[in-house]
Amino acid sequence: MFELTVLGKYGPYPKRGGATTSYLLRIGDKNVVLDMGTGSLAHLQNLISITEIDAIILTHLHHDHMVDALILRYALTGKDMEPIPLYTPDTPSYEYNLLDHAPCFDTRPITESIKVNLFGAEITFKGMIHLVVTYAVKIVYQGKIFVFSSDTVYSPELSAFAENCDLLLCDSAFPISMWKQGTPHPSAVQAGVMGNDAHAKQLILTHINPEADEKEILKDARNFFPKAEVAEEMKSYTI
Ligand SMILES: [Zn+2]
Repeated sequence: MFELTVLGKYGPYPKRGGATTSYLLRIGDKNVVLDMGTGSLAHLQNLISITEIDAIILTHLHHDHMVDALILRYALTGKDMEPIPLYTPDTPSYEYNLLDHAPCFDTRPITESIKVNLFGAEITFKGMIHLVVTYAVKIVYQGKIFVFSSDTVYSPELSAFAENCDLLLCDSAFPISMWKQGTPHPSAVQAGVMGNDAHAKQLILTHINPEADEKEILKDARNFFPKAEVAEEMKSYTI
């Protein structure tokens, strides 16, 4: 099994009842949580128990991507468990130290030069352009390729990193009508272009600004990637 379930699709804050960016990846019989925004821990428990998380990847340490890892730390205090491998950039240092000092996590800093073999999957990282150190993630499992952009501006390097992937999960925070030059996120038009340039088989748009019109985001992206979809919380996608 190689499957993505959306736990949270918003950023930088959720809509009522929603969560900010977070995903459960099922790799074989293992559970890997990719980013842990606010509300994601509540949604995760509809699927698995908090003691069934096998690994965590945080693509950057903005709070809308990581704050529930700090809440997980409370939940796991006193539990008789091996530390959970947690891959994360080692900066900003304040947030990194909070994670690194938690006994429930085995923190492993991300760099572009590491190649992680985890549960039969090969995981690599590519630095993106954002306000803090941020990595796109590529996970290859049984010949299938999944790429998550994390947060980034429009980047031809993302398209190259995601070349021929089966599923590109892409930051698409704003319709073009709301997007401004200098925003640290791509417009939905740019997300569609990046998906098209990557020759991705599926494009899922995420990190949706809660004030944006999703229909407009979808329309913008579909100009360049006709099968693009907006992420739906608690929906699963086969990779
Ligand atoms: Zn961010």
